[in-house]
Amino acid sequence: MSPSRRDFLKQIGTTGVMTAALASSSSFFMSENASAAPATSLPIKTTSNGKKIGYCIVGLGRISMDEFMPGVKISQHSKLVALVSGHRDKAERVADQYGISHKAIYDYTNYDQIAHNPDIDAVYIALPNGMHAEYTIRAAKAGKHVLCEKPMANTVAECEEMIAACKAANKKLMIAYRLQYEPNTLKTIEVLRQGYVGKIIELDCAFGFNIKPEWRLHRKLSGGGPLMDVGIYCINASRYLTGEEPISVQGYTSVVTHDGRFNEVEENVVWNMRFPGGILANCSTSYGSNFAGNRARVIGQTGMLDMNPAYSYTGLHIVGDSQSHGKQDIAIADPNPQQFAREADHLADCILNNKEPKSDGQEGLRDMKIITAIYKSNAEGRAIPLPL
Ligand code: NAD
Repeated sequence: MSPSRRDFLKQIGTTGVMTAALASSSSFFMSENASAAPATSLPIKTTSNGKKIGYCIVGLGRISMDEFMPGVKISQHSKLVALVSGHRDKAERVADQYGISHKAIYDYTNYDQIAHNPDIDAVYIALPNGMHAEYTIRAAKAGKHVLCEKPMANTVAECEEMIAACKAANKKLMIAYRLQYEPNTLKTIEVLRQGYVGKIIELDCAFGFNIKPEWRLHRKLSGGGPLMDVGIYCINASRYLTGEEPISVQGYTSVVTHDGRFNEVEENVVWNMRFPGGILANCSTSYGSNFAGNRARVIGQTGMLDMNPAYSYTGLHIVGDSQSHGKQDIAIADPNPQQFAREADHLADCILNNKEPKSDGQEGLRDMKIITAIYKSNAEGRAIPLPL
């Protein structure tokens, strides 16, 4: 994330925590989740026999340095063993910080040498989107499991190549959808399935921020604008909140701010998704405003749930109102549930016990197909049936 993007999302997260703390003591989640783990206690259980999965970090940018590496440090079943960076000095400083051997520092040209380092079980790919496919495929060929950041790649074809490469090498492929491991999000999904809002009829999801110039504005590296970067959270949330796959989409993209940032990618996207039973999702994303939202609202026949913020690293806040439970501040029991440690340990558990990651390559591919259909809808001026 650019500093503005990161600071903005963190600020929203903090506001959410404060609102929750100040709100009513009547709390559905608190009472249901009274034994929620404290921030640094991670409840992932696995038969690891004490073995930890060794991660090689590919790309020393903001998400890897500010979030993922600190997350691995406090995880239960994962450890940091190698780095890949184009900047040797920086990599040596980071290696010293985390106790990683300088012999385990690679660059983008000798990356394939990771094949000869038995300490590396898996790579974490935190490069620009347009590099995800190449570095996933090279990792699989080097015999390593892959945790790849979202969006999975720039195109559907690249996603399919990544899945095929990992399958051929018999290696796990997980896409880093951190919220699918986040306890407040999981609790929200659970209460929805239990009928908290009754039958869902409508969703309203939005996520965006005001971007500064960086690689995200260059199509070759990003694959597209805010839809690829943060709009994808609204797509993924619509799918996990409903538990359904959309059957058609209609979308529009635009550029309102003509200041040179949006020559290669769109500034704004709004789109609708129709689900099989009739649920409609209304979604938007933008790179043009810090007021573009960070929310997922679920409206049902007998209630509603409002997640705001819905996609931050910490401090998710969920409010509910329903005929059965009344108006409630569905406060968070654990304001910092260590999303990145949970994510790292999920793949570790899958590797140690030969299980498929919950957010596997197919999950990343599904979102990429929906994104492709939204862009196609805008280009052709019509609704696009799904799946592609
Ligand atoms: P960043 O710009 O902070 O870091 C990118 C890294 O890639 C840097 O280390 C940079 O040196 C390296 N790099 C190598 N070749 C490059 C090139 N040609 N151009 C630019 N950088 C190059 O980006 P980031 O915010 O850390 O994002 C990295 C990935 O992580 C993206 O795919 C992004 O979508 C994803 N991400 C995920 C989350 C999340 O919450 N899961 C949050 C932020 C970013």
